[in-house]
Amino acid sequence: MKVFKEIKQSTHEKVSYFYDPDTNFKAFIAVHSTALGPSLGGCRMMEYPNQEKALQDVLRLSEGMTYKAAIAGLPLGGGKAVVLANPKKDKTDELLKSFGECINKLDGDYITAEDMGMNVRDMEIIKTKTKYVTGLSESLGGSGDPSEFTSYGTYVGIKAAVNFKFQKEDLNGLSIVVQGLGNVGMKLVDYLSKYDMKIYVNDIDKKAIMKCVSEYNAIPVSDDEIYDLNVDIFCPCAVGAIINETTIKTIKCKIIAGAANNILENYSKDGEALLEKGILYAPDYVINAGGLINIYNEFNSIYDKQDIFQQVDKIYNTLTNIFQISLKEKKPTNIVSNELAMNIISEASKNKNLIHL
Ligand code: NAD
Repeated sequence: MKVFKEIKQSTHEKVSYFYDPDTNFKAFIAVHSTALGPSLGGCRMMEYPNQEKALQDVLRLSEGMTYKAAIAGLPLGGGKAVVLANPKKDKTDELLKSFGECINKLDGDYITAEDMGMNVRDMEIIKTKTKYVTGLSESLGGSGDPSEFTSYGTYVGIKAAVNFKFQKEDLNGLSIVVQGLGNVGMKLVDYLSKYDMKIYVNDIDKKAIMKCVSEYNAIPVSDDEIYDLNVDIFCPCAVGAIINETTIKTIKCKIIAGAANNILENYSKDGEALLEKGILYAPDYVINAGGLINIYNEFNSIYDKQDIFQQVDKIYNTLTNIFQISLKEKKPTNIVSNELAMNIISEASKNKNLIHL
């Protein structure tokens, strides 16, 4: 009954549950919207405590992908898949092939890619069964790791936020703390290091911190200090939900702009609290869209790296527009960006209907 409660509240076009007894494959694929194009979104493999939690996750994530694609100006809808399995113990080639076969049953309404618990090799196995997959390795004609574009988009987004908040074209003289020095964060620090900035860094991986200290002259900060630091920009590039009721009380930055997904723990309350505190928040799915823009180009086989960087540059104007509306209407930036995305989708749906008439 709980499953039906979830579905009743959702606005999804299609939600499918797949079960293959031969491989014990169990998955949900949710297509939230195809108003702008086929839905694209990663596949997450993880052990969920129960099916309701898995369904909740796939519904929430696929809806987020709809807004992300729309605001990035891509002709894509939002979708997502969750495979209910332990990636360390249960992942076999047969299981991945079952997943590929299930994707085919959706006739191109859903295109898959990497997410938690999946990697580029898994995409290659899935590719043996379906053409609706992207984010492949360069050796298979794919574009490889998309984080290069996510880092670049985050850098562009930080510049947009700085220009809006401080009326400054560059980042010289500012301070930033980057949380998470993985694929995205490390490359981002490289971009930032071109400026005369004070760069603070934090990671649970001590080696990554050491690299930043030696190569970029960055200053390490502990987990305890990070939210109290008096910096201009807080840049989360690790885990989500780090901006919440507790951290908002102490945080002293003027801008929050980073690549991490689901930065706000409570979507409506936290956005409002940041607005009240005068902290400019760059909505996560807007600033971190570089990777999605990249895999969309890969899927369409129109791969031109220089052109993709130019597409990612548009994040600057998109964010500036969101900041301006937020200021004018006194609305949190995350609400503004959702409303803009919904307008794009509803316009597209109207036009779609007209074509059918
Ligand atoms: P990654 O796994 O390469 O790096 C994450 C880094 O964060 C690691 O160095 C890890 O040690 C560190 N970390 C983990 N928990 C931490 C904690 N509690 N405190 C401090 N550091 C911690 O991941 P990534 O690809 O760099 O992605 C970073 C974030 O950006 C994630 O939230 C991801 O979902 C999001 N994102 C990434 C992409 C992409 O193209 N890679 C695209 C969109 C969004």
